[in-house]
Parts: sequence; structure tokens; C-alpha cells
Amino acid sequence: MSDDARLPLDADSSAERIGEVVRQWVIDRVPAPWRDAASRGRAAIRAVRSRQEYAAWYPVFAASGLVVPTWPVPYGGLGLRPAQARLAETVLAPYNLGRLNPLGLNNAAAPLFAHGTEAQRLRYLPPIVANTERWCQLFSEPGAGSDLASLSTRAERDGDEWVLSGQKVWTTWAHESEFGVCLARTDPHAPKRQGITFFVVDLRAPGVEIRELRHLGGEVEFNEVWLDEVRVPDTDRVGAVGDGWRVGNATLSGERQMVAGAGSGGVDRIGGSGAERLIATARRLGRWDEPATRQRLVGLLSEERIRRWTNERVRAAVKAGGTPGPAASIGKVHQGSLNQRIQRAAADLLGAGAVAFERRSAAVGPEGWAADLPYEVAGMLRSLANTIEGGTTEINRNVIGEQILGLPREPDPYHGAPWEEVPRS
Ligand SMILES: Cc1cc2nc3c(=O)[nH]c(=O)nc-3n(C[C@H](O)[C@H](O)[C@H](O)COP(=O)(O)OP(=O)(O)OC[C@H]3O[C@@H](n4cnc5c(N)ncnc54)[C@H](O)[C@@H]3O)c2cc1C
Repeated sequence: MSDDARLPLDADSSAERIGEVVRQWVIDRVPAPWRDAASRGRAAIRAVRSRQEYAAWYPVFAASGLVVPTWPVPYGGLGLRPAQARLAETVLAPYNLGRLNPLGLNNAAAPLFAHGTEAQRLRYLPPIVANTERWCQLFSEPGAGSDLASLSTRAERDGDEWVLSGQKVWTTWAHESEFGVCLARTDPHAPKRQGITFFVVDLRAPGVEIRELRHLGGEVEFNEVWLDEVRVPDTDRVGAVGDGWRVGNATLSGERQMVAGAGSGGVDRIGGSGAERLIATARRLGRWDEPATRQRLVGLLSEERIRRWTNERVRAAVKAGGTPGPAASIGKVHQGSLNQRIQRAAADLLGAGAVAFERRSAAVGPEGWAADLPYEVAGMLRSLANTIEGGTTEINRNVIGEQILGLPREPDPYHGAPWEEVPRS
């Protein structure tokens, strides 16, 4: 990352200076049509800026340090304090400069910050920020989803390397990623949470096979990943041997807050349009004057606002360099259900238009048949996953009950038993 392109700001910069430098950067570096569209709102920006154009321009954003302003300079940030970063973000907000590589920025960076070595951070964080190395999360397995700690992918030590074998599933964006964070079992004789170790896996290594899966809307978003004696250097182990459960929890909290919208993701990423778009749809269809419709949509809008404020706490913790912690579960539980209700309301507004649509092509391409669906219907289908991905609603309620409210833990008749003696599906 070029030092020349990085903004001349640091932890001592005044509020005025931050505003001045970031505003000037916007004028110099954000393309003029995007800046013009910003005054007309997000839909106008989307109309003048394709995803491809945004990805092509993104290195300019990354080089400025503004993608992760609170991160230290050697990792691709500016070393700003959270309050300073918020000032910068306020200037940037109208231009809707979303962060790419969300699994890298959230799921991989959180454990690297909390448990990685300095060498690992210097190696992996800058390309995450620049989006030149994209990341996925190799946790879930066919027999280990909610009960993740029962996972059975094996990692056996061989000199300075580990040999990993097993099957992962539901691995979002593995087909477009260079690296994955991976949990594997290093000690089958230990209780299930104690025998797990956390690794960084290079998906281009021999023995990695990625098979695409199509979801309900027809798109390829996630994959099966087969690991067949994949060799991982010990320098790519994150945290101590056997401490992977604790390291992995930094990832899971990062994922929850991302899926809940407190990070760089949010309703746009998970197929949603948000309550404001819903209201615009109601106006377009001439339904906004119906009292029952207004009541329903304004109720959803209010919930969305409350959800954003709740997420602010988590966002503040992350921006301060911490991990989101169990509070991320609150946003996750609420957002999953809220987005489903928003999407359902959008499909209801369309009425018959939600089920009758024209197929433009008989062939099913990488985007699946979702490309032919009305936007609202594609969003509704995708939203069904919101209460599953990033930990199901039921499991997150357990996290809230046990770790925030202090309720008794869920009974586990096999507590403390060696993993190899616990029945598994
Ligand atoms: C769109 C999508 C993307 C995903 N991306 C990734 C990814 O990138 N990487 C990754 O590792 N995983 C990913 N996942 C997997 C996801 O984390 C799991 O699907 C999820 O944790 C649930 O596991 P499971 O599917 O095995 O369901 P199961 O664990 O079999 O659960 C089935 C049902 O039983 C309920 N249940 C289970 N245990 C309990 C309990 N103790 N108390 C109450 N209810 C319980 C669950 O809530 C659920 O309703 C993704 C999933 C989806 C849908």
C-alpha cells in the first residue's frame, strides 16, 4: 500500500483537520458522477455506479486508509481514535462507500487482532483491506452446525506442518476466496471444546476442492469445501494448539455483528432493501395511502431505526479495536426476523406480481434464476437464510440467555467427556 496515497492524519489530528482532509480526498478521488449522485440518495448512486466499477476503484479507497481508519498504519489503517474515525465516516456517509471483503474485515481480522502474531497481522491484514486477498470461513460441517464444537475435520501435526482432512459446508464465497479461517480437531481425546485449533488455510493449496452449491434463489453463494490432506504451515496456526474454540469465538462475534448490519454488511448484503425502500415501493404502487399498509411499514421502519441504534454499541466496540462480544447476538436475532418481515411485506405489496414474472432466459447462469425474479421476491427468498446464517436465532438466544442475562447453561449430559466418546450426527 503506497504511503503517498495514505491520508496525512493521525491520532493527534484535530476535528477540523480531519473534516478538511477527508472532504478534499472525496473531491480528488471519488469519481465526479458518484459525487453528483450522492446528493440524490443511494438509489441514484447505484444507478451510476456498477459493482464492477466500484471494485475497480476500491484500491484508491483502501490506499487512503479510510477503509479501516482505526487500524494501525502498518495494517492498512490510519491509527485514528474511534471518535476521529466517526468524524471521517460522517464525511464519507453520503457517498455510500461500502467495505468489500466483509469476511476478511470481520471474520478473519477479529481473531488475528485478538490472538494472532504480529507477523500474521502484517502478512494478512493489508491485503484484506485492499481486497486483493478475499476470505471465507471454514467452520460448519455436515455434522456440526449449531453444535460447532463437535466438528470432526482432523489436523495432525507433521514436523513444522499440519495435515488437514475433512469436509466443510455452507462456506460462503469460498469459490471467490484465496484464504479461509478454519477450525480443525487436533486432539480427539480431549473434551470437544478443548481439542480444537484455529488455522488459516490457503485455498489454492493442493488437496482443497471447492464445490459450488445453489441456494433457493438459484445463485451460487456458498460451497462445499473438501480438505484432503491439505498441508498448513504451523506459522498459519492462530492461537495456541487446543485453544481454537476461544479464537473462533472472536470470528463468530465478528460474523454476527456483520450479518446483523453493524459492520460492513447489512440489509443490502443479505438481500434486503430496508424499510425506506419498502416505503418507496408502496408509493410507486399507489399503496402508501392505505392506513393498514402505512401502519405496517412505519412499524418496520421504527424497528429498523431501533436496531441501528442498538448496533451502535457493537460498532463502537469494534472501532475501538475490541471484539464485538456476546452483545452481537442481540442485533443478529432482531435483524434476522426484521429483514424477513420487511421482505415479506415487500412481496405482499407486489401481490400477484410476486409470483408471476417473466423468465428472460432458459439457461441457468451463475446468478441462477434470481436474476429474473423481481428484486423484492429475490430478497424475500434470500431472507429465509437470515435466521440461520451466522448462528441460528435459537442458538443466539442461548448466547444472550447464558452470557448476557446470566441464566443457567443449557444442560449437556456429555460435558467434559472426550470428543471421541460423544455421539455425533
Ligand atoms: C446462507 C448461509 C451462509 C452460511 N455461511 C457459512 C460460512 O460461510 N461458513 C460456515 O462455517 N458456515 C456457514 N453457514 C452455516 C451456518 O452457520 C449453519 O447453517 C448454522 O450454524 C446452523 O447449523 P446447521 O445448518 O447444521 O443446523 P442444525 O445445527 O442442524 O440446526 C437445525 C435446527 O435445530 C435448532 N437447534 C440446534 N441446536 C439447538 C439447541 N441447542 N437449542 C435450540 N435449538 C437448536 C437450530 O436452531 C435449527 O433450527 C451458512 C449458512 C447459511 C444458511
